[in-house]
Amino acid sequence: MHSAVKVLYFDTAATTPVAPDVLTQMVRILSGEQGDANPSSTHLPGQTAAAIIAAARAEIAAELGAEPDEVIFTSGATEANNLALQGVALAHAAQGRHLVTSAIEHKSVLACCAALERKGYEVTCLTPNRQGWVEPESIRAALRQDTLLVSLMHTNNETGVLQPIAEVAEVAAEAGVLFHVDAAQSAGKFAIDLQQLPIDLLSFSAHKFHGPKGVGCLVVRNRRHLRLQALMFGGSQEFGLRPGTLATHQIVGLSAALTLAARRREADLPQVAGLKRQFLEQLGSRQPIQVHGDPTHCSPYIVNFAIPGISSTALINQLATEVALGSGSACSSGAVEPSPVLRAMGIEDESLYGAVRLSFSRDHTPAEVTLAVERIAAAAQRIQEFAC
Ligand code: PMP
Repeated sequence: MHSAVKVLYFDTAATTPVAPDVLTQMVRILSGEQGDANPSSTHLPGQTAAAIIAAARAEIAAELGAEPDEVIFTSGATEANNLALQGVALAHAAQGRHLVTSAIEHKSVLACCAALERKGYEVTCLTPNRQGWVEPESIRAALRQDTLLVSLMHTNNETGVLQPIAEVAEVAAEAGVLFHVDAAQSAGKFAIDLQQLPIDLLSFSAHKFHGPKGVGCLVVRNRRHLRLQALMFGGSQEFGLRPGTLATHQIVGLSAALTLAARRREADLPQVAGLKRQFLEQLGSRQPIQVHGDPTHCSPYIVNFAIPGISSTALINQLATEVALGSGSACSSGAVEPSPVLRAMGIEDESLYGAVRLSFSRDHTPAEVTLAVERIAAAAQRIQEFAC
C-alpha cells in the first residue's frame, strides 16, 4: 500500500505548535479544574481566576524586565501594534503628528501608519540597506521636532535580519521620542531586558514561541506616565486600555510558553543555529542558492533564499505535499506581488520572484533538515528538467 508522505513543517515564523506543557496548563483552566470564572467577578471563583492572571502577568513582566502593571494583554502582535501606534498618535496629537518607521515592517504597523496618514499624520518610512537592516543614522536624520514615535521591528519576519534596536533605542531616547518595537519574531527566542534597553512599547504574540494563537502583549514601560488612547471601549480591563473579559487560559498559555522558551533559550539558540547552518551547507552543495539578508545579523530561526531560475510559486507548488515553507510572509502569501521587504532591500527581480522562507524550530531534528533539503533539491531539479 502507498503510505502518505508526511509534510515537513518549516514555517514556524508563521506559527508554531503549542508546546505540550503549555497545553496541559491551558487545559487545566479550560476544563474547569481551576480558574475558569470571569476574572473581573468579585466572588471567590472570580478572585481565583484573577490571581492566576496576576501570577501570569508577573511572570511575563519578570522575564522582560518590566513591571506587572506594564503588561497589557491583547489578541496578538497585530492588536498590540495597533494600540502602540494609534494609541500614542491619538493621545499625543496636540504635541506632534509625525512618526518614523521602516518599509520592512509587518503590515499591522504599515497599515496603521497608512490609517494615521489618512487622519492627517505624517509618516517617514525608511528603506533598509541591502543587507536588510535600517541604519540607526537614517532614523536619527528622520527625527523632527514634532516626531512622536519611532517604530522598528526586532527580527524581520521574512528575512530574519535583526534590526539594530539597541542603537535605535539610544537615538530615540536622546531625542526624547517614544520607541516601539515589534518583537513578534524575537520574543521568547532572544533575551529582551527592558531594564537595559530604553524601549517604551513592545509587541508580541504567544503563537510564535509555542504558545496559543489569539493572545499577545503590548508592554508599555512607565505606563502611568506614557499616555495611550484606548482603541476600544466598554470595560475597565487592562487599565482601561483593552476592554473585554480576559481569556485566562490564553494568558496562562502565553506566560507558560514564554517561561519555557526562556528556560530553554541557551540551549535552543545554538541548536537552531546549527540546523540553519546544516540546511545552508547541504542545500548549497546540491543547488546554487542566493541567501537574502545579512548573514551576520540574522535570527537562526529564519532563512530566506532563492534558487536562481526557479520561481517561488513553482517551488512551493512542487513541494506542496512535502515541505511547508513560506513565500514572503504568510499574511501576504495570497498576493502574487513579490515581497515588498526584499524589494525595499534592492534585491533584483529574478531573486525576488524566487524568494522562499524556511523557518526552523527547537523541535526540528538534523534528520528532518536533511530530508527537507533532499525534497527541495529534488523539486528544484524537477522544475529545471521540465524547463529544458
Ligand atoms: N509582526 C510581525 C513581525 C509578525 O511576524 C507577525 C505575524 N506574522 C505579526 C506582527 C502579527 O502577529 P499576529 O498575527 O499574531 O497578530
